[in-house]
Amino acid sequence: MFRVCSWHALAHFRNLETSMKIMTIYAHPADTITNCGGTLAQHAQRGDEVVALILSHGGRIHANKYAEEWRKDAPDDAVAAAGLDAIVANKKDELDRAAKIIGIDRIITLDHEDTYATVHEDVVEEIAEHLAAEQPEIVIADHPRSPAYFDAHSVATGMALAALARAGTYLRNLDGRDEVPVRQVFLTGLPVYNLDALSLNGVRNDCYVDITGVVGTKLAAMDQFVSQGYHGVFARKLVESYNGEAGRAAGVNFAEAFVRLYNETHQHLPVTEAALATDPLTRHIAYSSVNLRGTYPVR
Ligand SMILES: [Zn+2]
Repeated sequence: MFRVCSWHALAHFRNLETSMKIMTIYAHPADTITNCGGTLAQHAQRGDEVVALILSHGGRIHANKYAEEWRKDAPDDAVAAAGLDAIVANKKDELDRAAKIIGIDRIITLDHEDTYATVHEDVVEEIAEHLAAEQPEIVIADHPRSPAYFDAHSVATGMALAALARAGTYLRNLDGRDEVPVRQVFLTGLPVYNLDALSLNGVRNDCYVDITGVVGTKLAAMDQFVSQGYHGVFARKLVESYNGEAGRAAGVNFAEAFVRLYNETHQHLPVTEAALATDPLTRHIAYSSVNLRGTYPVR
């Protein structure tokens, strides 16, 4: 019976209205939090499963704490003489604490050196295997932006997209595992916030998540990244400016911005609840109402 077959096919997938699995794929430990920490906090709150895959250990990136110690007249040996293992272990502790605050269920760190300059086939395979094991419906990764120049985040996304393609060809007959049911990929970090599809030939973030309600959670998570100076005043600067500008484009106090990789299909033309609720006259005042540093002071 055809009906039985289609039931069987549907049973393979979760009911996405009630629960989804999200997998983030980023180059460095803090990237997940700075790019989409607020969005992940909201998904965690509504019961979605969140897994963060991190390609490098991040031991050499933003090593502020150690570099600053060397600048002092009498450096503390425990900090100034810390080796890569100690630096990486400390970074993992910071990430663990941040992930708990956000509600990330699991962190997978592949622990590659963060000095890579190009796509590595073995890392592509590694990511594909994790995609196949996790079976996420949604993947979040950095926007590749301009692949014309070296950027660790662009390369990470290059590997993630290649891994998605590879995982999409898995066949139980040949590989002993099923294809991966990723439904959408949301790309972060494109610094383009125009309000419509006609400006700048349409290059823009096209999807925004209002994170105003969890902005304190995002700040508390960022406050954990002390070794790279992402805590305190920088956390507040980043959220005020980066998420504030995305919020201005979205018509809310603070937002995280995304580009959807795949087309969307609807039964009718979609208009969002936010679009229906917005008041064009007072929108700019409403989205400027949160005093971030007053509400979430540096401790
Ligand atoms: Zn990074």
